[in-house]
Amino acid sequence: MSSQIVRPLDSVSAFLKRQHGLYIDGGWVAARGQGTLPVFNPATGEQIATTADADEADVDQAVQSAHQAFISGVWSRRLPAERERILLRYADLLEQHTEELAQLETLEQGKSIAIARAFEVGSTLNWMRYTAGLATKVSGRTLDLSIPMPEGARYTAFTRKEPVGVVAGIVPWNFPLMIGMWKVMPALAAGCSIVIKPSEITPLTLLRMAELATEAGVPPGVFNVVTGSGGVCGRVLTSHPLVSKISFTGSTATGKGIARSAVDSLKRITLELGGKNPAIVLKDADIQQVVEGLMMGSFLNQGQVCAASSRLYVEAPIFDQVAAAFEGAVKGLTVGPGLDPSFQINPLASQAHQAKVLGYLEDARRQDAELIRGAQGPNGNGFYVSPTLVLNPDNHLTLTREEVFGPVLCLSRVDDVEQALALANDSDYGLTASLWTRDLNAAMNLTPRIEAGTVWVNSHTLIDANMPFGGFKQSGTGRDFGADWLDAYTETKSVCIRH
Ligand code: NAD
Repeated sequence: MSSQIVRPLDSVSAFLKRQHGLYIDGGWVAARGQGTLPVFNPATGEQIATTADADEADVDQAVQSAHQAFISGVWSRRLPAERERILLRYADLLEQHTEELAQLETLEQGKSIAIARAFEVGSTLNWMRYTAGLATKVSGRTLDLSIPMPEGARYTAFTRKEPVGVVAGIVPWNFPLMIGMWKVMPALAAGCSIVIKPSEITPLTLLRMAELATEAGVPPGVFNVVTGSGGVCGRVLTSHPLVSKISFTGSTATGKGIARSAVDSLKRITLELGGKNPAIVLKDADIQQVVEGLMMGSFLNQGQVCAASSRLYVEAPIFDQVAAAFEGAVKGLTVGPGLDPSFQINPLASQAHQAKVLGYLEDARRQDAELIRGAQGPNGNGFYVSPTLVLNPDNHLTLTREEVFGPVLCLSRVDDVEQALALANDSDYGLTASLWTRDLNAAMNLTPRIEAGTVWVNSHTLIDANMPFGGFKQSGTGRDFGADWLDAYTETKSVCIRH
């Protein structure tokens, strides 16, 4: 172990030892279900905490609490400025607990403590403050009408944005705190109540965030957390009759199942799903910028990023130079536990996911793909996968078509930009893409032809609270972030007045 390893705070050790219940109606509640779920440290494979496995009755209790809070008006009818102030206080509380939340995230998820501090907490603070501000920006329009009867009558209408009701938030394990807050904050800013379910792999930070919400002044019942499996807890929550809106982030397969069940009661849905994100590198690109930008875009958080670049299409004249630069960079990555900030690659989030990623690589190797592997993780039981380049893989390999969600980057030589575009768009996914060129005309002419919800030029994976994010094709439906974010958490009511 490196000498730079961070020692967990006493508050973190104490939190891990707790008997975790569910957070319902502003406090801890023991689950009625007898089951429990272990939480593991991906760097060691050791169990570090135990959480409740909520059953149908537990989930119902949480939804009933959220519903009662919503119809009581204790939050939904509060002055927008008061909601904004409480949510800003909530962000301040997270900032005061930065190190505690960052350590908890590294311990349950595996990521670097440096990334946990900078992104999982640091970026989340930006999002929380931006979204808190939206609470006081909700507005409708006034409408002139042309209804001709009865003769002489005049009508004016206006639209109101009203909170949609109880929101079910379902969160994956790659950025548990950040993605959790991407659901809690717009729901609460709009005046909704929420029941949120973290991934069973990474439930700890959202449990802690529930306590901080109450401390900030969010009323009981407005913010509830249920922990448990997807198959029971998640399914019961997303199909509950009192839930009006589902905000889901996770895999495309799970998202499709949730969308099917939502149709029965026509729940509003936002789905942020998987990606298989291409990067197109034109022959005039700045190679150093390409390598720096796409090493970050591909290997941040061990590639467990929905927007990660995973397929590079490089024009032939610079392919060898680009491939050599990536090989040097990948072989230079250091691999070790996330609590030591000097390591650039850390373990994957779970043993099952490690096995899945290794399976993709083994399948590619069996089919004679050329693999270039970086350093191995430390010996032991951690869930490590070496950072790996795959050179010129066949476009029909499973690895080039399915979302690997690991530290694996495919590099392919293409004859020209038309071939690159055809390959980039040859995917069921359409979440993000990037284009690398110094030619402004090429950038402006090519971006409309790329099938993705976000296209970066000369960068990749950079997101911002003010820039809408979401998928084309099977990468999802709806958009998060941006000035219109609360639209997804409100209903539009037209009020028509005769005068
Ligand atoms: P997953 O779909 O396996 O699980 C996501 C969540 O859904 C978990 O909380 C899980 O318990 C729950 N769940 C599972 N089955 C359910 C069901 N039947 N009903 C309700 N809930 C259920 O995804 P994951 O492995 O946790 O996360 C990785 C995936 O998330 C990747 O595909 C990644 O691309 C995607 N992701 C997308 C974005 C985005 O913004 N588009 C962001 C991050 C992650």
